[in-house]
Amino acid sequence: MRSLCLALIAHDGKKNDMIHLAQEFREFLARCHLIATGTTGSRLQAQVGLQVECLLSGPLGGDLQIGARLAVEEVDAVIFLRDPMTPQPHEPDINALVRACDVHDVPCATNLASARLMLRQLASSAR
Ligand code: PGA
Repeated sequence: MRSLCLALIAHDGKKNDMIHLAQEFREFLARCHLIATGTTGSRLQAQVGLQVECLLSGPLGGDLQIGARLAVEEVDAVIFLRDPMTPQPHEPDINALVRACDVHDVPCATNLASARLMLRQLASSAR
């Protein structure tokens, strides 16, 4: 059985939150296959010491790459810490990724509280 594949994405204003979240759930995340948009992934590697498959940076198409992987059932859950206060140049890509989660019924947490609920549940069912 393959390990769970989680996709992690954080907008710039939410990257520190993602780092803290990953530190909190480090032990569980280390057992998953992690994919992430470029900058989010490099920070998780450098600051949390997790192994991450880094895709393109979000504004350069990373969200779309995650959407494509998700559409062929390679992604089990998405944590997408969006910054609701800052306009993003790649808004259409962001909407496409969230839509792909809805189309394929893949859990997608878009804020810290829902991300914690999701990770707690996944971690306890993976035991
Ligand atoms: P990044 O992309 O991790 O490369 O910064 C995230 C985003 O802004 O969509």
